[in-house]
Amino acid sequence: LFRSTLADAPHEAITVRAPYTGGTIGTIPAGTVADLDVAVQRARDAQTAWSRLTFAARAGIFLRFHDLLLERQDEVLDLIQWETGKARRHAFEEVLDTAIVTRYYARRAEGLLRPRRRKGALPLLTRTMEFKSPVGVVGLIVPWNYPLNLAVTDAVPALMAGNVAVLKPDVQTSFTALWAVDLLRQAGLPPDVFGVVTGEGPLLGPALGERVDFMMFTGSTRTGRLVARQAAERLIGCSLELGGKNPMIVLAGADLDAAVYGAIQGCFASAGQVCVSIERIYVHQSIAERFLASLAERTRALKVGASLDYSMEMGSLTSERQLQRVEEHVRDAVEKGAVLLAGGRRRPDLGPLFYEPTVLASVTEQMQVYAEETFGPVVSVYPFSSEAEAVERANDTRYGLSASIWTRDAAHGARLAQEIRAGNVNVNEAYAAAWGSVDAPCGGRKESGMRARHGAEGILKFTETQTVAVQRLMPVGTPRWMDAAVHARWMTRLLKLLRRIRVLD
Ligand code: NAD
Repeated sequence: LFRSTLADAPHEAITVRAPYTGGTIGTIPAGTVADLDVAVQRARDAQTAWSRLTFAARAGIFLRFHDLLLERQDEVLDLIQWETGKARRHAFEEVLDTAIVTRYYARRAEGLLRPRRRKGALPLLTRTMEFKSPVGVVGLIVPWNYPLNLAVTDAVPALMAGNVAVLKPDVQTSFTALWAVDLLRQAGLPPDVFGVVTGEGPLLGPALGERVDFMMFTGSTRTGRLVARQAAERLIGCSLELGGKNPMIVLAGADLDAAVYGAIQGCFASAGQVCVSIERIYVHQSIAERFLASLAERTRALKVGASLDYSMEMGSLTSERQLQRVEEHVRDAVEKGAVLLAGGRRRPDLGPLFYEPTVLASVTEQMQVYAEETFGPVVSVYPFSSEAEAVERANDTRYGLSASIWTRDAAHGARLAQEIRAGNVNVNEAYAAAWGSVDAPCGGRKESGMRARHGAEGILKFTETQTVAVQRLMPVGTPRWMDAAVHARWMTRLLKLLRRIRVLD
């Protein structure tokens, strides 16, 4: 069932372990540069036929995939849970989002990419059209935290636009990616149009970037810089979805219960291993004490554990590396005087990589957790006294991915949102409102990324524009029969006229 695109040669095997138990899930082939050669070449050879299909034909495949995904969700929910250790409710978010984005681009790609008539150089005499053509082979590199969603939801617009793609999933979550691509093939996607090569990122990532026409990267800011540097060198496009240290602001008068519930979702979904997770909460001082008490109590009451049903509210961390990072951030903070209000411990009794959902107060700039992305179930809570202070502190970060504001006055919240330097701001929701609004772009500012997924931008980036202008009757410059000085005089008069009346703008 699980086929990656492989050259004819023996491959070393990489063992993948389940975070819940530490046991072996299976082995994946350690892909090589020769495998990438094969996958990219096969994709290139398949592109002409694929891009000549009608939008309706391509959309049919993705809508079938959508239906199969919903029907067979239990298979992939199990896989996601086995590979990431997240709770089933958080794995289901991936199914939901993948279906929504797939339907969106299946239905909307044609409209977003249709040729557009543009105003010509000379009215009536120049007929100008703008066309969008596919860039060619899109390379996709994705991390382990949302293995279904990130493997599919950027590929769908790339493929709907007539591109072909080669995916390099993370070693930890390759089975989920292979399952998804296999399901796409069962839905009718020609196999070579979307290749997968599994294996180590530091080897395959740069080699993929060397061979493709566009790089779509999701992962850490550190690796994103390498991808951007290579793309710059090769003068190809790239789109980067990177890290965050996302703030939540709770204004005086906000619905406290709703804000606490939102914080729990925002901080602890997928054990905090979400790029848009909340890691900093700023609460108005008038309600800080009540908010903290309620957040700490609800956090302590969360059902944490390993289970393949919907009973758990938080699962495990995904890797030993993540667990160590979380432990280190909390240890460092507590050593330097932070107060632990909930959590703060490993839970080997639940599984080898479990860590309690954790709430910290009295965090200072000297602590790692203050500014560095933890990417785990740890949140720091700070009181503030004025909105200006809250905005300033929310913006005091090198990241700019997502933010959240809680208020009873939604219109005020939406205005305040525009002062936050982040690509996505949610009012009275932690992150799902902006992320789930798939008709709008979703991307990071500052060191959180470049360009965006979702909406028109999420597909236009996988295309190149072409302007075709057809001239008739007379040339754009000086006509043969006219003196250049006369032409210049007339044109000057015309420009002055156009400046005064708006007819041709
Ligand atoms: P990472 O950068 O270490 O790895 C991401 C991917 O890059 C993996 O597939 C890895 O194999 C590959 N890779 C490794 N070295 C490479 C190289 N030299 N060249 C090219 N690719 C290489 O990231 P991670 O720590 O595994 O993932 C977590 C990070 O991803 C967090 O910072 C998180 O915020 C971010 N993230 C962002 C989004 C978003 O949409 N903005 C979504 C999910 C995760």
